[in-house]
Amino acid sequence: MPIDRRHAMLGSAAAAVALATGLPAQAERGPLPPQMGPNPPRFLRMKLGDFEVTTLLDGAMQGTNAGIQNFFPDSTPEEIAPLRARAFAIEAGLHQPVGAYLVHTGRNLVMIDCGGHASFIPTTGNTLAALRAAGYTPEQVDTVLLTHIHPEHALGLSYDGTTRNFPNAEVVVTDIDHRFWTDPAMESRVPQGQRFIEAARRAIRPYNGRIRTVEMRRDLEVVPGIFLDPAPGHTPGHVSYRLTSQNQSMLIWGDIAHQVVIQLARPRWRVGVDVDPAMGVESRVRTLDMLAATGMLMGGVHVPWPGFGRVIRDGEGYLYVPRPQQFF
Ligand SMILES: [Zn+2]
Repeated sequence: MPIDRRHAMLGSAAAAVALATGLPAQAERGPLPPQMGPNPPRFLRMKLGDFEVTTLLDGAMQGTNAGIQNFFPDSTPEEIAPLRARAFAIEAGLHQPVGAYLVHTGRNLVMIDCGGHASFIPTTGNTLAALRAAGYTPEQVDTVLLTHIHPEHALGLSYDGTTRNFPNAEVVVTDIDHRFWTDPAMESRVPQGQRFIEAARRAIRPYNGRIRTVEMRRDLEVVPGIFLDPAPGHTPGHVSYRLTSQNQSMLIWGDIAHQVVIQLARPRWRVGVDVDPAMGVESRVRTLDMLAATGMLMGGVHVPWPGFGRVIRDGEGYLYVPRPQQFF
């Protein structure tokens, strides 16, 4: 039988089956309901030993195509094009999710970074709502650990510069980063300038007397079960935090990578917004190397939702592998 005739017979057989099921015609089903539009998630919890770690979605930042060369000064358009394709970032500039993490250790309720605010980036500032959706109140948080004092990591501390969003919390930041953002002598060293300095100071101002500055020392235990992992370069006092419970560990980074797909493939590309780009490269490579070597779970403020995964080696670079979501 010719192949087109066979297809025609199959087609008419399918039509006969449809008729036999008695499915109502479109007109009888009524008009289609409207599409529902975006449905941003708010939180996702996972267990790490005795800890519960909750990822909270704060929002996102949308870059422009023009901004890409400034962000990755070592890139060429030819080299970055396939990486942008891999990251689904072809038509528009680079999309950067913003998140925060809540850790319930059994002894402490800890935020790691706390999102931004619409006054700085219009599409950020949902961390408090996400925290409430996750079943907690800001009053219950006893510690906020900052990776560094950049706006989309720290403005969640205070939305108006006077009110503490976490009224009962102590804020922990490295002495180096605190000095960097508050010492008038440092002002000329901030690449993004006055706007970032003003935002940093506005974020921490209401916590005067409640800020615990800590030495940037590897494995310093800042809260029981939570340890510092120095990652200077992006800012001078930029750190990651390692959570450890029952022999399980997870590293949560701030800005080791803003674009996980691109930067893990090209970890040695300098980042234009880093205070010390060369040092930023060293911290990124060291962190990725450690994660790939140990298979440790990781998360990061700009890691795509829900921000739980692992880093594996991939040729000259690395690859981010999201953790399969486990709901039950
Ligand atoms: Zn940053």
